[in-house]
Amino acid sequence: MSKYWSKKIKDLKPYTPGEQPGEGERLIKINTNENPYPPSTRVAKAIEDEISNLALYPSPCAFEAVKAFADKYNIPVSNVFAGNGSDEVLAFSFMALFDPEKEVLMPDITYSFYTVYCNLYGLKYRQLPLNSDFTIDIQSFISEKGNIVIANPNAPTSVALPIEDIEKIISAHKDDVIIIDEAYIDFGGKSVIELIKKYENLLVIRTLSKSYALAGMRIGFAVGNDVLIEGLNRVKNSFNSYTLDRLAIKAAKAALEDSEYFNEITQKVISTRERIAQILKELDFNVLDSSANFLFVTHKRYNAVYIQSYLRKNRVLVRHFDNERINDYLRISVGTDSDMDTLISLLRKMK
Ligand SMILES: *Cc1c(COP(=O)(O)O)cnc(C)c1O
Repeated sequence: MSKYWSKKIKDLKPYTPGEQPGEGERLIKINTNENPYPPSTRVAKAIEDEISNLALYPSPCAFEAVKAFADKYNIPVSNVFAGNGSDEVLAFSFMALFDPEKEVLMPDITYSFYTVYCNLYGLKYRQLPLNSDFTIDIQSFISEKGNIVIANPNAPTSVALPIEDIEKIISAHKDDVIIIDEAYIDFGGKSVIELIKKYENLLVIRTLSKSYALAGMRIGFAVGNDVLIEGLNRVKNSFNSYTLDRLAIKAAKAALEDSEYFNEITQKVISTRERIAQILKELDFNVLDSSANFLFVTHKRYNAVYIQSYLRKNRVLVRHFDNERINDYLRISVGTDSDMDTLISLLRKMK
């Protein structure tokens, strides 16, 4: 701790991302839910063509990225906001739309950045327990008072919530803001983007990091009513006029326009996930029904920390969370078929 830090900084508990190995360390990295495939080849071309324009500032609202997203999902550009990764979009959303007087409701097991933002902004929050099968307790979100943030599919559980249940929650909270973080929606869940026309209090957060294989480019979006989007722009324009650089804007556009490649890699991840889930069950793991690009598993005999360190010794990284309720679970991202086969053969040999 430094005497030069502000009081606020002294009390922060920052988020800890999964391990990123150093250059040259050859590991199978299935710990941070990255896409195992490269981005569309159109991305490389788009970036190359843009390099000669780097002397100039980019569009402050990342217009071409916003337009490509709006076109793909058939919504007006005025309903879309772009940011430097969806983490930034989430951070801006919490600041723009949540107030200290009102609690933020979220599941007890979910993306741990949500509580980090609450602490950063001095927002009170309440974590509503998931049911014992790790589904979201809809009734508690309907009856409790407060603004809401829910990841759908939820992380790190991989479990998706039906659109009808989300709609019940939104209609019970007409005076509150509901944020649905759809980071993993392309791997099997059903998006609530269409509901933004019906509910002015719904904000949907998306990212190109997972399903578009662009985690390294940092591109995220928010989708909602014009008034919510204007709120986000007020925050953004009080921090940084240019949150997406020129290369990211062109990369986003190219990736969003290449639907064929997007569908191909998404389908590959889904079919690998289903194949591996089945094998893990045969190896005595309990595997939650996943709608995401990762599996949330617990073994009937071996404990999670033991399995994680055994795999780490054999150069395979998976994620474990130090949270009482999920202490005996591991989150395993879906890699290529060959990476997953290596994982399986290691698990078969585990003693
Ligand atoms: C990965 C992830 C994000 C962050 O995505 P970026 O766009 O890379 O910042 C947000 N929410 C959830 C639930 C995630 O798992």
